[in-house]
This record gives sequence, C-alpha cells and structure tokens, in this order.
Amino acid sequence: MRDKQNHGSKEGSKSEQGLHVYEALSVRFPDAHCELLHHNPFELLIATILSAQCTDDRVNMVTRSLFAELKTPEDYLALGQEALQERIKSLGLFHNKAKNLLAMCQRLLEDYGREVPADLEELRKLPGVGRKTANVVASNAFGIPALAVDTHVFRVARRLGLAQGSTPEKVEEELKQVFAREHWSKAHHLLIFHGRRICAARKPQCPVCPLVDNCREHEQAMEKNLALIPE
Ligand code: SF4
Repeated sequence: MRDKQNHGSKEGSKSEQGLHVYEALSVRFPDAHCELLHHNPFELLIATILSAQCTDDRVNMVTRSLFAELKTPEDYLALGQEALQERIKSLGLFHNKAKNLLAMCQRLLEDYGREVPADLEELRKLPGVGRKTANVVASNAFGIPALAVDTHVFRVARRLGLAQGSTPEKVEEELKQVFAREHWSKAHHLLIFHGRRICAARKPQCPVCPLVDNCREHEQAMEKNLALIPE
C-alpha cells in the first residue's frame, strides 16, 4: 500500500495542497492549454461565447470555417442573425448565441473602438459575456491572472477537496486562495485537462490518477467500502 503523501493531505494547508495539485498535474499535463481554436482576442471571445453547454471540439469544428469567413465585428453584423444562426446551429442554443454575438459586436464598435477590452470588468459588460467567459478571455488573450470555473474545474476542485462552494463563483473565490496568483490561469487549464482526461464526470479513472493519495472523494469512497466489509 502506498504511503499517504504529506503534500496536499488533509493535514496540510490548502495552499500546500494547491501547490501539490498544481505540480502533479503540471507533470502529467505539461502542455495544458486553452483548447478553443483562436488567433486573436476577438476570435477567443467569439469561441468562448459559442462554447456554452457545448464541447470545445464541436466549437472548433464550427469556428474553423466561421473564422475563415468572418474577421471583424462588421463582418458579423453584415451577415445578420439568420445567416449567423445557420452557421452555428450545430452548437445548440444557436438563437441566443447568435443574438449575443451580434450585440457584442455592436458594443465593440460603439464603445471600444472595435477592440476587445483587456480588462475583466469591461469584458463583463459585453452582451453574452459572463464571469467565466470574461475570465477565459482575460487570462488567455491578455495574460491577466484569472481563474475561470467551468463544469470540469467545478467538479475536480470539489472532488479533491480544494473547494466546497455550491456555485462556480464560490468555487472561484476558494480556488484563488488555494493557488498562487501567478498560477491561476495555468491551474484552470490543468484542472480542465485532468477533468477531461482522467477525472471524468461519470467514470473517474482513480487507479491511474496522480492525485489518488490526496483526493477527498476517493478517500471517502474507500472509507465507505471498508465500512461494508464485515469484521
Ligand atoms: S482520485 Fe479519482 S475522483 Fe479523485 S481526482 Fe483522481 S480521478 Fe478524480
């Protein structure tokens, strides 16, 4: 039986646990990065809005041709709602997504000189841009420390015991205490890579997980199993 590691065990502080998770996942996923196809902040903003309730792979299939055809906010506005819907309809929620993209493009033209603002608060003012999208764009396009909490980050952080919050906002605040500020953006990618490749929602691959000795969920599952063994 393996010895329980000191780093990240429940006896350690949260920041020690955070550092251990960060280092272990950095070894397992040295190339963790944003998987949404983009070449500039505007394309990343479009792709992130399109990614709501949809996988990155599906978004990339659509944006490959969309980005080849449309380059500027004016291009999207000239295309219009119906034609834009047609191009993104495989992604679901296409009516609202097209509406938000057009409103966002309009706002960029009217208030931001056609440029995506490099500022978290300004990003959040754009139509269709919530906290998660603003964090993704701020960190990936502009290098601003931010920690976006999507479904994978939310699930993995709670399973590991890094956070207990019941909403993405609460988990984000907890994770910002757990990880060093300079690690926020990378920690976001590491937790997503881990959630997609090992700690899947339905079937987590605990036997091959580099964090198995430091995971609250796994520890609780083991305790439950032991309790079922008759003495
Ligand atoms: S041990 Fe299992 S539940 Fe815990 S982080 Fe690893 S894969 Fe997820």
